[in-house]
Amino acid sequence: MNNFLKTGIVIDGRYQQHQTAPGHPECPERLGVLLELMNNYKRDGIIKIDPRLATQEELTWNHHPDHVKGLAATAGQDQFSYDLETTTSAQSYEVACLAVGGLLNLLDAIMAGEVDNGFAFVRPPGHHAEYDQAMGFCLFNNVAIGAHHLRVKHQLERVLILDWDVHHGNGTEHSFYDDPNVMYMSLHQWPHYPGTGAAEDVGRGDGAGFNVNVPLPAQCGDGDYVAMFQEILDPIARQFDPQFILISAGFDAHANDPLSGMHVSEEGFAAMARILMNIAKDHAQHRCAVLLEGGYHLNALQNSAKSVLDELNGQHLANPVPITKSSIHAFHRVRDIQQKFWNVL
Ligand SMILES: [Zn+2]
Repeated sequence: MNNFLKTGIVIDGRYQQHQTAPGHPECPERLGVLLELMNNYKRDGIIKIDPRLATQEELTWNHHPDHVKGLAATAGQDQFSYDLETTTSAQSYEVACLAVGGLLNLLDAIMAGEVDNGFAFVRPPGHHAEYDQAMGFCLFNNVAIGAHHLRVKHQLERVLILDWDVHHGNGTEHSFYDDPNVMYMSLHQWPHYPGTGAAEDVGRGDGAGFNVNVPLPAQCGDGDYVAMFQEILDPIARQFDPQFILISAGFDAHANDPLSGMHVSEEGFAAMARILMNIAKDHAQHRCAVLLEGGYHLNALQNSAKSVLDELNGQHLANPVPITKSSIHAFHRVRDIQQKFWNVL
């Protein structure tokens, strides 16, 4: 049991100031429903953490200086387009810096023991952002910069990034593909945007075995996700022995989400969070930070975020989810590949 954990929350109305085109799924209203959630969320142990702007040095831990300069140059412009779906507005650069800095302040608070874990409700999302390129609604790769921060500033040796957003986090994978100190695990719909995330992509050089892709066919639900966690991801994570767990938490695998074909429910997200928090308890002094990525159905986003927050807070624990293996081919494929690196039965 994880009763009475202290949970840090990063949320700020300024995250609504990154404007996208009318009808775009990654809209300011996403942050609006989360502000509403937090205004009504009354539990002990919730501690607000103010964001700050990330510094140029922090941004260039993960990005080419020209990408940072290019995004900075969009400040004040009504609109700039990286691609059809990835655009900026006048304040997007500042908001993107505030998203990264919000996560970094949360990580500092966890490392200082001021809180045990936390949730950063930020936008824009980050996991598609590459070293030198904004893409897929993402400007800076928030979670990757967070992992660099834990490595550089807090000198941790082993950081686990678990990405359950329905899309593969191509940017995050590429950031640490050669790196045995940052393990990247992703469950994602396959085939689907952005097209990366094959099970065979296991890392390179010293990083071989430290990139764990779980591509899943459409229509998978809670039981399929939990089966993957319990039988493959949990044992690998425990062998890796992380000192900190970062969760790239998109909620676009939800059954109601307009951008995907998965059937995960609020209870499923809670069950995944519970498994990860148990790993964090046993290996990382509870240290776990959840970071918002996608999730485009406003009610599903609000309810799913609440379910995960209840788990972090430890005062309302998820019911066990019975496992299913409707994706037995995907399950066996991932297991067979990972058995080359890890003790997975
Ligand atoms: Zn997504």
